[in-house]
Amino acid sequence: MNLACTSVRQEIDTIAPYVPGRSIDEIRERYGLDQIIKMASNENPLGVSPLVQESIRRHADMVFRYPREGNPRLAAALATFHKVSPENIVIGNGSDEIIDLLIRLRVTPGKDNIVCCTPCFSIYPLQASICGTEIRREPLNVDFSFNFEALRAKVDQNTRLVFITTPDNPSGYCPSRDALLAFARSLPEQTLLVVDEAYMDFADDELSASLLTSGVYPENTAFLRTFSKSFGLAGLRLGYGILPKELAQYFWRVRLPFSVNILAEEAGLAALADKSFREATLRTVREGRTFLTKELSATGCTVYPSAANFLMFAPPAGSLQAVPLFEKLLQHGIIIRPLKSYGLEHLLRVSIGTHDENRLFLKALRDCIK
Ligand SMILES: *Cc1c(COP(=O)(O)O)cnc(C)c1O
Repeated sequence: MNLACTSVRQEIDTIAPYVPGRSIDEIRERYGLDQIIKMASNENPLGVSPLVQESIRRHADMVFRYPREGNPRLAAALATFHKVSPENIVIGNGSDEIIDLLIRLRVTPGKDNIVCCTPCFSIYPLQASICGTEIRREPLNVDFSFNFEALRAKVDQNTRLVFITTPDNPSGYCPSRDALLAFARSLPEQTLLVVDEAYMDFADDELSASLLTSGVYPENTAFLRTFSKSFGLAGLRLGYGILPKELAQYFWRVRLPFSVNILAEEAGLAALADKSFREATLRTVREGRTFLTKELSATGCTVYPSAANFLMFAPPAGSLQAVPLFEKLLQHGIIIRPLKSYGLEHLLRVSIGTHDENRLFLKALRDCIK
């Protein structure tokens, strides 16, 4: 029944919901399996740092307090980590919240537009459509690289944000730092380039791949990073951005005052301090990526080059197609990600696991396509 008092704005009515990876409990129950391996959501293969767990336990008795507004200790630690001023740092309930607020801060519904790729991380167009914003989408090249010239051609005087993910999700593609810099410099002055570097620290050489790490970037650029991947805090929801100072001030003015909770802030501080856990994570992912790339290719899969903690691949020609292969892997207790919701029905994405998980995934895959 559709009551007049429950109808929603027209732009909400047409929105397709976000499609998350399948959960372990759901698959365990459905197939009655003991062991489930989840390689679907690009989470940290090593789990949570022991120092982070210790910090969460130590601060459990503080959760009756409201957090301090503006998360100043974490902002200071992040500023040191990235060698920027604390005034450039913003922090959110996942980078998802920062994406949402950037759109709401900068874009006037019905007048302005945003530009992104297709396919791209679905949160950009999803939050933009909730805001009633025009979304201009430029297809990726066939090899999943960015067509910067065509993206630039989509930008006009009403374009307030351009979203680029590097390394890209779901392909793992990482454009050269110079190409991205040239693109940023080509944009008109009212357009802010948002570079989402959620996976950048997994690149083999972060310094040469990242505009943020280079420290030499134009004023019209904002960067997004997250604690969800290499820092292993996806479930606590903590993301951050490096923004031009003026925009960062507006961000803090409109962010809900307590959207980042006390335990997330403490965990973020501990995660930044635990250098050895993070180094172990990066080593595990880089080695696993090389190993899985080689082994998947040996089974006849087409594997796309990736600088991230996941690989996009197509099953061997003449074997099971991507979606049936995904479903058959579920019966073996392995959850990966079909890319149908990205419009890539012939492709799959697998997150890099521990060495054991990678081997069990490969064994199940070989069984499935035999
Ligand atoms: C995982 C991911 C993020 C991180 O989102 P959080 O809200 O911080 O968990 C951001 N951007 C992309 C492209 C991602 O894949």
